[in-house]
Amino acid sequence: MHCPFCRHSDSRVVDSRTSDDGASIRRRRQCPQCQRRFTTIETASLAVVKRSGATEPFSREKIINGVRKACQGRPVSEDDLALLAQGVEETLRGTGSAELDAHEIGLAILGPLRELDVVAYLRFASVYQAFDSLDDFEAAIATLRADRLERPEVTAD
Ligand SMILES: [Zn+2]
Repeated sequence: MHCPFCRHSDSRVVDSRTSDDGASIRRRRQCPQCQRRFTTIETASLAVVKRSGATEPFSREKIINGVRKACQGRPVSEDDLALLAQGVEETLRGTGSAELDAHEIGLAILGPLRELDVVAYLRFASVYQAFDSLDDFEAAIATLRADRLERPEVTAD
């Protein structure tokens, strides 16, 4: 890492700190030539390959924005969205791939969104899976109903 002040080609780490969520490491560095200090942030590389073939860095904020649209008018809080996005990121990082395509990200969102809110799930799935007829909705709803019968909700009484 070049010194950003004098472009010296080396620097010494004087302090390392892991972020609260463990996803990044902040390092304080000192240039041995000009003695000035600067900070670097190290994260595991995770890029998204778009349909156009262009890549962009993975963004939790983009996940939240996409899911928020599907959750309009639904009883889903900002905390729920943040937790969902965090879970999606953990799932994606867990694959060990440095590059993911947009399709894989959509798939990773569908599972937890279904647990969160079935209406939002159907809205998201209809866009993501390009539903183009009532049959597609019927099939998705039939799957939801069948799964619900297999896993009856536990009632406390
Ligand atoms: Zn320097």
